[in-house]
Amino acid sequence: LVFSDLMVLHFLYLITNVGSCKMRIAIIGAGAAGLAALKHGLDDGHDCIAYEKSGKVGGTWNYSDNVGRDEFGLPIHSSMYQGLRQVTNLPKELMQYENFAYKESKRSILFQEEVLAYINSYANTFNLTSHITFFKHITEVSPLPENKWTVKIKDLKTNVMESKEYDAVMVCVGNYSVPKTPKIQGLEIFKGKIIHSHIYRKPDPFRNRKTLVIGGGPSGVDISRMVAEVADKVYVSLRSGNDSLEKFSEKVTIKPEILRFTENGVGFKDGSEATIDDVILCTGYLYSYPFLSPKCDIQVDNNWVKYLYKQIVNINHQTMAFIGIPFRVTPFPMFGIQVRFFLKFLKGQPVVSKDQMLEELTQYMLKKKEEGQPIHYAHFLGLKQGWYMDDLADTACIKRVPPVIQKLYAHFHSLGNKKFKMSFRLLNDGEFEESDL
Ligand code: FAD
Repeated sequence: LVFSDLMVLHFLYLITNVGSCKMRIAIIGAGAAGLAALKHGLDDGHDCIAYEKSGKVGGTWNYSDNVGRDEFGLPIHSSMYQGLRQVTNLPKELMQYENFAYKESKRSILFQEEVLAYINSYANTFNLTSHITFFKHITEVSPLPENKWTVKIKDLKTNVMESKEYDAVMVCVGNYSVPKTPKIQGLEIFKGKIIHSHIYRKPDPFRNRKTLVIGGGPSGVDISRMVAEVADKVYVSLRSGNDSLEKFSEKVTIKPEILRFTENGVGFKDGSEATIDDVILCTGYLYSYPFLSPKCDIQVDNNWVKYLYKQIVNINHQTMAFIGIPFRVTPFPMFGIQVRFFLKFLKGQPVVSKDQMLEELTQYMLKKKEEGQPIHYAHFLGLKQGWYMDDLADTACIKRVPPVIQKLYAHFHSLGNKKFKMSFRLLNDGEFEESDL
């Protein structure tokens, strides 16, 4: 068969098998991504059900004092922390679903409870909750012939297991639950307390202490700021500088990467040393899908989830999608367009062969390499998220995310520390305005 024949076959397959019928879709997780999957899947006329292992919608936005394991013996999912200045790291204007705005308020930077209330309001407004089964833990997903799926579900209240068959699966389990711990010389001999940001909850335990925070991503920045309110001293070890943190508090000192730990201190690559009491590892999270059987053909290689078409579709089993994998993005707008892309893909658009998908992925990874990005940055988008979301829309001929989202995202990040003191408003003409709080 020549390439064009394969394209025609693929198109015919999609039209005859999936494009024309209502599908039974299993959605794993009822966090913000799972709710977007449910909303758009139902709007498209599919028979959708979301399985959620906890008793609530909103996933990571459900703050809990608990760390370790939950009442069913499963690892606590949420990494949400609480602090003196618990705020979102994006303005609410960038944290909303399509056509579903937050209640009018002067503030753009919200408390965690406000985001959770918004997510609940989305679920209630569109009657999504009646399509969610709670306390259901998905323990295994495996492919069946004809691109179908078998999903094993454990009822956490009764321990009863059942298996169900679906035409498509959307994996919406979040990316911030399994801590990534770096290998640093001497970390094992350090005698102080070492925690990962996954179990950081409040700054109180760091009162009057000398604390080292490792990592300058959103968690590293937030936690350094919160701990600096109560600690004697906060060292923040970064790969590259972030002077906005030092400007935030004179108790904060930015340090380069770590050379080695000693029993009660740390040496940095610039030759400087510091005595410290505690370490908070803000070193990120691992993508993890323990419920996918090896037959799903998904591997996580150095935090690159492969092989996915446009970071969404399982290239080897194309009725499986992953929603929410890219990071340093505006998650809420991205969930919507990723889901709409996949639903259109199920209907047969775009027409693209497996080889083309793999080639596109190869080119994408080559470009990352040329830009000097390591493999574990495979899903990093940052300011390229606008390009990514437009590409999804244009490839599948679906509505774009309004350009003002990307515009405000870029502007917000250019504001440094000031960004938390501003409020924003999206205007009808596709622009935004800002004002001091
Ligand atoms: P989650 O919210 O993690 O939801 C996944 C759901 O899947 C959970 O409910 C979980 O119980 C369920 N689940 C997992 N495995 C299974 C299984 N096997 N069976 C059944 N159910 C399962 N984003 C912003 O836009 N702005 C912010 O300010 C912001 N701040 C953040 C601060 C912190 C500390 C963290 C950790 C994240 C922050 N985020 C922020 C990103 C946040 O993760 C996204 O906004 C969004 O909530 C992710 O939604 P999700 O549905 O992909 O994942």
